[in-house]
Amino acid sequence: MTATPSREDCAARDRRDPLARFRDAFVLPDGVIYLDGNSLGALPASAAARIHEAVTRDWGQGLIRSWNAAGWIDLPAKLGAKIAPLIGAAPDEVIVADSTSVNLFKLLVAALRLRPERRVILMEARDFPTNLYIGQGVAALMGDGYTCRIVPGEEIDAALDKSVAVLALTHVNFKTGAVHDMARLTQHAHEVGALTIWDLCHTVGAMPVDLTGARADFALGCTYKYLNGGPGAPAFVYVPKHMQATFHQPLTGWMGHADPFSFVDDYAPAAGIKRALSGTPGVLSMVALDAALDVWADVDLGVLRNKSVALGDLFIALVEARCAGHGFALASPRDGTRRGSQVSFQHAQGYAIMQALIARGVIGDFRAPDIVRFGFAPLYTRYVDVWQAAEVLFDIMETRAWDTPQFKARAAVT
Ligand SMILES: *Cc1c(COP(=O)(O)O)cnc(C)c1O
Repeated sequence: MTATPSREDCAARDRRDPLARFRDAFVLPDGVIYLDGNSLGALPASAAARIHEAVTRDWGQGLIRSWNAAGWIDLPAKLGAKIAPLIGAAPDEVIVADSTSVNLFKLLVAALRLRPERRVILMEARDFPTNLYIGQGVAALMGDGYTCRIVPGEEIDAALDKSVAVLALTHVNFKTGAVHDMARLTQHAHEVGALTIWDLCHTVGAMPVDLTGARADFALGCTYKYLNGGPGAPAFVYVPKHMQATFHQPLTGWMGHADPFSFVDDYAPAAGIKRALSGTPGVLSMVALDAALDVWADVDLGVLRNKSVALGDLFIALVEARCAGHGFALASPRDGTRRGSQVSFQHAQGYAIMQALIARGVIGDFRAPDIVRFGFAPLYTRYVDVWQAAEVLFDIMETRAWDTPQFKARAAVT
């Protein structure tokens, strides 16, 4: 067995890292190793000034004129076009609006309408809860024999039959980081006549993905994780060109109308991706996201992916070497090509261990019932950070620092 890397080895890798310069594009607090960019991305250094300008100049001075003069009305499409190259889409196939939950509702209903003779939404057990809840809500709303069929990951292929209208999956699982083969599953769905919806919440900004190449029918994702758009930043929707004319989503608000400012009584959908919109965009959130997306303009996603896999491999090697015998079981794929940009371990005392880590400045998160989760945002996570996090974890286990009542009391958000 090769020796595990030393801190100096890790520092040397940071010096050679082609992405190292991007760390300066973020505000990172001193004394913190932030391994939770998969839940809430770090603050882009340019965001505060951009928001300040939007508030004081565009809102304070420009007032209503800023919808035109500051381009507020164009933000949903402009930001969609900036996300498009990160997911293998054309600029006019992506738009920013609402939340992931709301957009999933729109996409599910639109997909069911395209397969009116079918009654099944197929989803994966242990997907992110909101996805399953929205799937169940849509089936209940549609009534008339509609069901949301939820099966374990290994049974998806067997469950894909001609009753399935839409297969709605998350590409990278939020708990384990396991990656689905999007192209293969999309092809299988198409073979039985089903449509696909791909959730890219833990994909976009973490690894490249090719929606066009995979022939995905629909996709969506959030922007506050690896894209660093800020807390509660709006989500995005992907509808490819050839699906846009027959795409009819149910939240037919005025922003998705063909001519919103004609103020006519009857709804008529906009011609292209804009028909995915519903109401007025949250401008200040979009301004923050705009600043965050500028960082991505010259990121090579292949280089990003290589670093992401290397960071995860390093963390697994260090934790398994240093914390052997302390009860951690790897809950993520060992094979980096099958793993998103996170590493999870199961541990019976996971909650208290994560609280002890956070108290020492190593911020990851806990996902019930027993998962400690560490996300690696390749634009700002360094190899030395991974090394240090494993060291602190080792110390916490050796000293049983987690074993106090203070770290066992559950907060509202874990
Ligand atoms: C983070 C995440 C969400 C979040 O949905 P919101 O509507 O923004 O709360 C949904 N689905 C998946 C798979 C996620 O990872």
